[in-house]
Amino acid sequence: MIKLISFDLDDTLWDGQQAIIAAQQAMHDWIACYHPTVAENASSGRYLILRAEVASDHSSRDYDLTFIRKEVLRRLFAENAYSNSEAHAYSEKAFNVFFEKRNQVRYFDDALVTLKYLKSKYQIAALTNGNADMIATGLSPMIDYFYSAESVGAAKPDTKMFQALLSDAKIKPQECIHVGDHPQHDIFAAESLGIKTIWFNSKKKKWSEKFRPGREINKLVLLPQAIQTICGEK
Ligand SMILES: [Mg+2]
Repeated sequence: MIKLISFDLDDTLWDGQQAIIAAQQAMHDWIACYHPTVAENASSGRYLILRAEVASDHSSRDYDLTFIRKEVLRRLFAENAYSNSEAHAYSEKAFNVFFEKRNQVRYFDDALVTLKYLKSKYQIAALTNGNADMIATGLSPMIDYFYSAESVGAAKPDTKMFQALLSDAKIKPQECIHVGDHPQHDIFAAESLGIKTIWFNSKKKKWSEKFRPGREINKLVLLPQAIQTICGEK
């Protein structure tokens, strides 16, 4: 018997790529307006170099996208003749601009109505490698459990988020269905614990892994039917 449906967020409930691109642009516009020299250096590719340096210096925190982004910004300000405290303060401000926009997500068609329907029948969880905020995205009234790479200290396909969910919700793997767009992060990780899966394939990509998802849908409106089908399987 299925008791809980868990969802990936970026590119499953909303267009994650669009949200990140818009947020990066807003952040860059803010830096260009208030700190033009920093913006000039950032756009010359320095941002990407710093990102690689931060990733290498803090490889054990590679799952923590908020930390990485703030540290890149702090270094960017620091190397442009700002004091340590200024670099810290401006990196926080620039990140806040990014984060506000990052949470103005465009939900996919039928995402909210489908979630609302499923919420009336099942418990709902969200498991994300990203750093979207549940209140700012408006998702919090619709979910019972929320886990992020930041909150558990590991990104999918590590199974920590799934294990935390099963433990907190006091359910068995076979009482849960996970829905996500990523073959490894969502389908492989969940299936490895015995959680049934639905691959959300809105771009109609070809499946190229050796393992298989439980079901596949290309529109969220098809989700209740896919769940029903899984419930009917022995
Ligand atoms: Mg995703």
